[in-house]
Amino acid sequence: MAMEHLTEVEAKDLVQKAGIPVVETVLARSKAEAEAVARRLGFPVVLKVVSPEVVHKSDAGGVKLNVKSDIEVSQAYDEIMTSVKEKQPSANVIGVSVQKMARPGVEVIIGMSKDPDFGPVLMFGLGGVLVELIKDVSFRIAPITRQDAAEMIREIKGFALLQGYRGADPVDLTALEDMLLKVSALVDQNPDVNEMDLNPVFAYRDGAIAVDARVALEAK
Ligand code: ADP
Ligand code: MG
Repeated sequence: MAMEHLTEVEAKDLVQKAGIPVVETVLARSKAEAEAVARRLGFPVVLKVVSPEVVHKSDAGGVKLNVKSDIEVSQAYDEIMTSVKEKQPSANVIGVSVQKMARPGVEVIIGMSKDPDFGPVLMFGLGGVLVELIKDVSFRIAPITRQDAAEMIREIKGFALLQGYRGADPVDLTALEDMLLKVSALVDQNPDVNEMDLNPVFAYRDGAIAVDARVALEAK
């Protein structure tokens, strides 16, 4: 199926409008704009390449975390542009996204893909490197109930990590259930959304927030 990706900024707008907490993220089309936005948001910030063709931003050298000053914004901006030009020369780069550096949390992933028989299927799992390494995920056909959301979270193998493993804070499971329910509703109300990932979501003792979003629409 032909698909076109929204940029991270567009994807986060869509997700935020559906009531899902996301890190405040602003598109900057030049280095000067990036510096101005960073100053307005307050340091430290994160810079990421914005291009419809660059789907895996880190792989292209397109993510700079913990950027702490004007000078670091300028350096990060140049490094991103140089690296993306080298790794994906044909990519059309619109600019960078500037966002607040979120405090660390337990990284989880919430996703949606379409099954030819069942339609939209929701996924929940541990995020970051773990998701690729151990594929510890659960699935439900959308739309889901709160009971489904609660079960999806509790049936992953790594659930103990969310409950406060070895003295760590337990995370806010209700906030994660809310997020799954809102993704389910978003998908229900936007049939042209073919795929979606919130990866990662940072889960905290109180609340949870998406720091990256990927949305693919059915191409018209
Ligand atoms: P990719 O396109 O490579 O998935 P991400 O936007 O997910 O790029 O960024 C890569 C990693 O950087 C994330 O998995 C997360 O650990 C970290 N990260 C991204 N955005 C933020 C942020 N706003 N605050 C803190 N950490 C972040
Ligand atoms: Mg990501």
